[in-house]
Amino acid sequence: MLFIVVFLGFTDHPSAQNQMEPIAVNGKIDLQQWIPSQSDEIIPLNGQWEFYWKKLLSPQQLQKTSHEQIYSYAPSEWSKMSIDGEKLANTGFATYRLSIRLNPSAVNQSLALYIPASCSAYKVWLNNKEIASSGIVGTNPMLEKPWTVSHVVYLSPTSQNLELVVQISNFSQRKNGMWDSFLLGRADSITKKDNLDFSLQLIMTGSFAIMSIFYFFTFFFRRTNVMALFFSGICILLSIRLSVIDGYILRNFISDSSFVVVNKLEYISIILAMIFLIKYISHLFPNEKHPFISKTLTLIGSLYSIFILVTPVTIFTSTLYFSVCFVILVFSYHVFYVYPFAIVRKRDWALSNLIASIIVIVTVINDGFYYMGYFTSVVLAYSGFFIYYLVQIITMANQMSKAYEELEVVSNRLTELNINLENKVKERTGELKGLNEKLSASNAKLKSIEKSRREFLSNISHDLGTPMQSALGFVEMMIKGLIKENHQKYLQIVFEKLTFINKLSDDLFELTKLEENKIIYHYIEVDVGEFLKEIEKNFSLDFQRKGLLLQVELIEPFFQKEKAYIRIDTFRMEQAFQNLLQNAMKYTPKRGTVRIHAEFIIDAKKVIIHISDNGIGIDESILPEIFDRFVKVDEARTASTEGIGIGLSIAKEIVHAHNGEIFASSEKGKGSTFSIMLPVKVE
Ligand code: ADP
Repeated sequence: MLFIVVFLGFTDHPSAQNQMEPIAVNGKIDLQQWIPSQSDEIIPLNGQWEFYWKKLLSPQQLQKTSHEQIYSYAPSEWSKMSIDGEKLANTGFATYRLSIRLNPSAVNQSLALYIPASCSAYKVWLNNKEIASSGIVGTNPMLEKPWTVSHVVYLSPTSQNLELVVQISNFSQRKNGMWDSFLLGRADSITKKDNLDFSLQLIMTGSFAIMSIFYFFTFFFRRTNVMALFFSGICILLSIRLSVIDGYILRNFISDSSFVVVNKLEYISIILAMIFLIKYISHLFPNEKHPFISKTLTLIGSLYSIFILVTPVTIFTSTLYFSVCFVILVFSYHVFYVYPFAIVRKRDWALSNLIASIIVIVTVINDGFYYMGYFTSVVLAYSGFFIYYLVQIITMANQMSKAYEELEVVSNRLTELNINLENKVKERTGELKGLNEKLSASNAKLKSIEKSRREFLSNISHDLGTPMQSALGFVEMMIKGLIKENHQKYLQIVFEKLTFINKLSDDLFELTKLEENKIIYHYIEVDVGEFLKEIEKNFSLDFQRKGLLLQVELIEPFFQKEKAYIRIDTFRMEQAFQNLLQNAMKYTPKRGTVRIHAEFIIDAKKVIIHISDNGIGIDESILPEIFDRFVKVDEARTASTEGIGIGLSIAKEIVHAHNGEIFASSEKGKGSTFSIMLPVKVE
């Protein structure tokens, strides 16, 4: 019931008349049917009260003098009455009297009387005893002190008859007379009703106040959320309005408050709430608002608020219907303009807002007709406004949680990005590490190249220098005539030294060309068997001369069936074989055997040609570097001056140019095997 109170305070309505309830006739109400011990019913003391216009009479005065009897219907304002055909004014004063006849069982029962907030001031007597007052009743504006609160008075009747006398004056506002029902009931029933009304009003006032604080701080901590500020404004205005109407909170907390302030707050709060509502909806549907209408309505509301502030209570309270119209106007603007656009544009909550607003308008119009007495109905605007407010709260909550949801999505994406970034950094770090390792490797390689360059130079100077000095020594001795005889022998030595120097320079030149890829290879496909036959043919004589045996095992079972081709530059490949065979010759003692045989790896499509000797063999420690330049074993050096450590490097370069591999295995004193692996094509 309190929800409509929040908005319009249409509390000056006659309560719907229950046909079964007793009704006062000619200033008397018969409650003999009502047995308080059996019924917790609350009886409105409605009907015809004795009415003494322009008279403030005490119960004693009323009893002494006889008066012309006029009756006024309660609850109703006296301004709706006419006396002698003349309509009564809003302002004035009067005395009401009602005689109540109770059931005998009601005597000595605990009863209570609810006295409504009659306007603007009142004083009540029960059986000649003053029981309640609100403000000071006066016969003119100067004498009246208006105050509008309700009271609950407890009584225990000593007889069946009760007499209620009520003085009311109004010089201070629109409402007048006994516009709300006096209620009689059992003490517990009235207390319950009063507590319930009060609690409800308190709960609602508190809830709106807390909501207002919540939304205000929501705005405070995120200034861009202006919607929250306007919603907070609406809430606080509703809270204020609830705290000043009906007198429940006033009576308990702010009994000294000014009548004017309270009334101004009651009227101005609803208008300001409407202004905040326009702002709030404008932010909810920013693209659907009509700037001109919004501004005009805001201006009208602001001007009207100023009007309420500056005019006396009697003036502005008489414009109640204007404020009702203003409320309807604001809602109509939203219903007929903003929401339809929002619905067409598929905005969230537009439809529910429209429906709730239509409900408000319909219920307000219904109540308007009801108060004007056009048809009997029930007051609905409370529920209408409640539904509307509920929709707003849900809309607001939804908007906020959506914002959080978006935030969550963004935050998740950021986390994801962060993880990706971390992975990327890891990846990049890995790449950098790899590059670093490569760089270190290159660096080490460069260092080793530099080392080998230095070694190369020192080897060259040594290998060239030694025979050169020896040859020079012999030539010098011959020139100086120190060698007297056997010239032929010494010239032969000089010749050999120079031949060695010449070979060394040729080999170096050859190796440099090979290493720098300056050699052009002329590849042809050659049958492996044919090629090895050629090798045998070219070298067997040399071996014989040196007292060695060259065995070429041309025919393996495989070669009987198939033909295997290698793609080689025959001249260069023979050169590689020559280097290997010459070494075998050099390092194999007389009567030794050098064997050439081919091994075929079918799956890998490779052929490996092994050259094995049973010569001096190579030390295990030197084997891994045997194909590097200038690598030679000391014994080799002493064994022959021909060895300079380039032959195997040349062989390696040639084999590599053929996409092949060269490797060596050896056992000191037992012999060595050099193997060349080449790609093979089988037919
Ligand atoms: P060199 O011209 O000194 O022979 P190589 O590069 O051909 O140069 O050989 C390098 C070294 O490898 C030789 O000095 C020798 O010590 C060793 N070597 C090569 N082939 C054999 C082999 N068949 N038996 C033993 N030692 C070998």
